Order: sequence, then structure tokens, then C-alpha cells
Amino acid sequence: MSSPIDWRFMDIVAERSGQPIATCYQCRKCTAGCPTAFVMDYDPAQIVHMVQMGERRALLSSQAIWMCVGCETCGTRCPNGICVGRINDALRQMAAEEGVRVGAPAIYQFHRAFLNNLRRFGRVHEITMIVEYKLRSLDLLSNLDLGARLLLARKLPPLPQVIRRRQEIARLFEAAGAHAAETPEGRE
Ligand code: SF4
Ligand code: SF4
Repeated sequence: MSSPIDWRFMDIVAERSGQPIATCYQCRKCTAGCPTAFVMDYDPAQIVHMVQMGERRALLSSQAIWMCVGCETCGTRCPNGICVGRINDALRQMAAEEGVRVGAPAIYQFHRAFLNNLRRFGRVHEITMIVEYKLRSLDLLSNLDLGARLLLARKLPPLPQVIRRRQEIARLFEAAGAHAAETPEGRE
């Protein structure tokens, strides 16, 4: 069954992302250059089209918006200056705010673990981040051999380094809004 149409959706996403979404004419150059399009359930050009068509529910619960790595290749290729990565940022924020079922729960949990680690220490400490990610995602056993090899090769510092002016990081989280500063649970 197709998702209900939200006619205000394009204006809201255009404003939140700062992208001229209405100017897209489906040349698909964004999709041709996107390094993660092959694993997305909707490719970048489809995402823009679905925003234009007001397919809010389908997009906010899609896996594609979490597969985007924010490389901005789409933005540099688009003849109309549309960066789908920035659209995806806005869609991810909306999905988290609205509590929709996350389309890629493990990636969502990775985002939370990464941001919490950054907020805690001011820079990422891989071991504590991975522990938090594994507890959040319940993916406890994967890649243990790789982790052990990295530890033995001393590629992972055992203790976190805390930056001196951590209050500046706290201010950044505060400026980004309450949602970024808290740790909501991903809906699975
Ligand atoms: S490159 Fe730009 S105009 Fe072409 S499909 Fe992608 S967003 Fe639309
Ligand atoms: S920013 Fe996202 S959508 Fe755009 S090319 Fe990179 S991965 Fe693909």
C-alpha cells in the first residue's frame, strides 16, 4: 500500500535542509555518483522525488536515509545544486524527533554511540564507543577477532583522552538542540 501524501512535506524538508528541492528534474547524476546508492532501498534521486511527492512516512522509515555517509558527491554533481546528503540529514532528524520506526536500527545505534562518546570525551575513544554500540545493538559477538588483532597491534588506545575545553563541545550539542544532546532509544 502506498504511503499517505503530505503536501507540506517538501516545503518543510527544503527549509530544514536548505536545499532547492523543487528544482530537481530527475537527471539522476546524484545517484550515478553516490557511493552507497547500491545498498539503499531508495536511491538519492528517488529520495528527492519522494520528498517532492510528499511521501513522508515511507521516507522517514526508510533505510536509505541512514545509509548516506554525507560525502556530498551528489551536491557537487547536481546541476541544480541539490545536496541529497543534507536532505538526508534533515530526514534523519525528523525521523528521530517523530519517533518513527528506524529503517536501519544498527546504524542508528552507531550514531548514538558515536555522539555520546564525543560528548563525553570531546574526541572519539574507539573502545568505549564500540562497547556502547555493541550493548545498544546487542550485536555482541561480531568482529571480536578483528578487535583483538587491533588491540594486540596497539592500534586502539586503552584509555580515553579527554580534551581540555570540553565545555565547548557541550555548547555545540546545546546549540544543535535538545535532541542531539540526549540519548533517545532507537525504535526497532
Ligand atoms: S542530480 Fe540534482 S537534479 Fe539530478 S536527480 Fe539528483 S537532485 Fe535531481
Ligand atoms: S551525500 Fe549521501 S546521498 Fe549524497 S552521494 Fe554521498 S552518500 Fe550518496
